[in-house]
Amino acid sequence: MSLLSVRDLTVKFSNRTGALTALNGISFDLARGERLGIVGESGAGKSITGFALMNLLSQPGFIDGGQILFEGEDVTQMSKKQVRDMRGNRMAMIFQDPMVTLNPVLTIGQQMVETLRAHRKLSFEEARQIALVKLKEVYIPSPVERFEQYPHELSGGMRQRIIIAMALLLDPKLIIADEPTTALDVTIQADIMELLLEMCQSNQVGLILITHDLGVVSQVTERTMVMYAGRIIENGPTRSIINDP
Ligand code: ADP
Ligand code: ADP
Repeated sequence: MSLLSVRDLTVKFSNRTGALTALNGISFDLARGERLGIVGESGAGKSITGFALMNLLSQPGFIDGGQILFEGEDVTQMSKKQVRDMRGNRMAMIFQDPMVTLNPVLTIGQQMVETLRAHRKLSFEEARQIALVKLKEVYIPSPVERFEQYPHELSGGMRQRIIIAMALLLDPKLIIADEPTTALDVTIQADIMELLLEMCQSNQVGLILITHDLGVVSQVTERTMVMYAGRIIENGPTRSIINDP
């Protein structure tokens, strides 16, 4: 069974001036532990694909048609509670700006412990130990000190490392990363991508990497999908897609 199986996924937006089909019936599969890149020009539907998978915009009617099977379960038919359990626990999302995901008024430690305890029966101390192990795994120096810091006290690169640790906190099966390094200094972009690759490999986590950067796709993914105007126009081994632009 595929980890993820998307069938005829359709998303439309309408406003006073008319309707726009953001996703025009896309279908694709992801195997367990597979790393897939989604590329395409601005407006092609890359981010909406990520959002639809996370069901982040899961107000009724966001998905206009199709099916998303995750480990054989139809995400589009889940209750709000099931979606909430699935997010974080089985799928996690990493955005361009870590401040979107980090809570500015909580320390790194508070938010990690809170996330763990929201999903698992753990004492504060048990959750703290798991969080510190995750911070060490992503090579955060002095994790005990970082634990007490607020997001704004850390550099952009350090924040994105922490975001990766947080994405891995509940041992998800799939990480969806939407332009995870675009906001970072170019000198550390490759380091963060290398870390993401290493973490996915060592934890057997599938990855959907949304980016406009073909270099990053070659570095990290095995397969690449090219989107254009809400459709998938190419889907194949990264090596053949990137060498044949
Ligand atoms: P990409 O990530 O490839 O740049 P998106 O997935 O963000 O593209 O957007 C796909 C299309 O859907 C674009 O035409 C965009 O303008 C439109 N779109 C995205 N979000 C909304 C929204 N909330 N309301 C209306 N249109 C939207
Ligand atoms: P609600 O939908 O109830 O307002 P949230 O949207 O804040 O709650 O989060 C619901 C669940 O999704 C939480 O358990 C949280 O850990 C998880 N979650 C939120 N954002 C992300 C993300 N970027 N990646 C993974 N899990 C997330």
